[in-house]
Amino acid sequence: MHELHRPRINQLQRFLFKIELIQRRDKKKDGNFMRVRGLAAMQAGGPLVPYEFERRAVGAKDVAFKISHAGICHSDIHQVKEEWGPALFPMVPGHEIVGFVSEVGSEVKNFKVGDRIGVGVFIDSCRECEPCKSGLQQYCDKGMTGTYNGYERDGKTVAFGGYSNGFVINEDYALQIPSNLEMAEVAPLLCAGITLYSPIRYFNTGPGKQVGVMGLGGLGHMGVKFAAALGAEVTVLSHSESKREDALRMGAKEFIVVKNPEDLKPHRRKFDLLLNTVSAQLDINSYIQTLKINGTMANVGLPDSPYSVNAGALVDGRKSLTGSMIGGIPEIQEMLDFAGKHNITTDIELIKADYVNQAYLRTVASDVKYSFVIVTGKQIGRAHV
Ligand code: NAP
Ligand code: ZN
Ligand code: ZN
Repeated sequence: MHELHRPRINQLQRFLFKIELIQRRDKKKDGNFMRVRGLAAMQAGGPLVPYEFERRAVGAKDVAFKISHAGICHSDIHQVKEEWGPALFPMVPGHEIVGFVSEVGSEVKNFKVGDRIGVGVFIDSCRECEPCKSGLQQYCDKGMTGTYNGYERDGKTVAFGGYSNGFVINEDYALQIPSNLEMAEVAPLLCAGITLYSPIRYFNTGPGKQVGVMGLGGLGHMGVKFAAALGAEVTVLSHSESKREDALRMGAKEFIVVKNPEDLKPHRRKFDLLLNTVSAQLDINSYIQTLKINGTMANVGLPDSPYSVNAGALVDGRKSLTGSMIGGIPEIQEMLDFAGKHNITTDIELIKADYVNQAYLRTVASDVKYSFVIVTGKQIGRAHV
């Protein structure tokens, strides 16, 4: 090549490179920000298979992060199986998500690159109604925006969950993770943890209170740990004898195996608060008998069919039957800070992405100690299901 042509070629290269930069920037603006690999159920019942999709560009108030771990909640399984009604497919489940911040928008105040971050069951809400203004976003009058199995606030962008390697979230709906806790063991706190912490706090659990935890699974074992940390006397009501030692190690004082309603008869009027975390149908009337006068049963389990409640069981002792759903952003942060202070995390079985379908089967069979957590990041890319 003739020497004289060189400068012109360099100019041309610089020009082309500039165009490429502009195209990349515009692509970001268009929303093609993050190419993400995940696991999706393509139809009701699964199985979960590798799936690639895009997340929105990082807006001024958004934080992007690399997901390090995602917990498996029984609610993921209910939704994949369409046990709560029609669902949206392909579905990338996962609403117990932790990771490390990779990019922040220009107006983000609470996070910087490299920070630990968590996302739970919802990613937005209307922000204007009374529940939203008082920090109870989970009870938003217009409906919270779920982390998956629905649309974002714009009503058209499909929300994909945490069984993936990247996430974008408005910082107002993201949580700070205490630095002393293991990330993998924190993930299930974002749903299982807050779901028990919230009613435990609301019903003033503490010294002198008798608390019964029904079902020792992902949710139940967090109920034991939080209620015990607050000084209550905790009893686990389980159908799995094999969990006895673990329950006592977690802080329970007593462990009762319940195979049929007769097993509850000796425990009449024992509890101030019963936390029902069971994912399947059961005879709740026999459990209500174990409440003290003025006692409360708080339901957090969400089986696929309605309970049959006996009015007689409630009137005999002015008992209350109530429910509770996760917690609002301020309370989730309070729970995480409490967990950091008292060194409370979840007991987990750490798995790779190619084990998720097996993990679903084992969760349904109550065969997990006590939550499955997926190592995401590179692992999710290698998934073969
Ligand atoms: P999980 O890990 O599967 O635990 C459920 C536990 O229930 C099992 O470990 C088992 O405990 C007991 N159980 C299961 N099948 C049973 C049966 N046939 N009879 C008696 N006991 C049975 O599930 P999870 O992730 O903790 O979720 C529990 C439920 O809470 C699910 O329905 C989920 O959708 C719901 N949930 C609700 C909220 C909320 O905001 N309200 C949030 C998250 C999840 P034992 O072996 O000790 O008996
Ligand atoms: Zn959940
Ligand atoms: Zn609202």
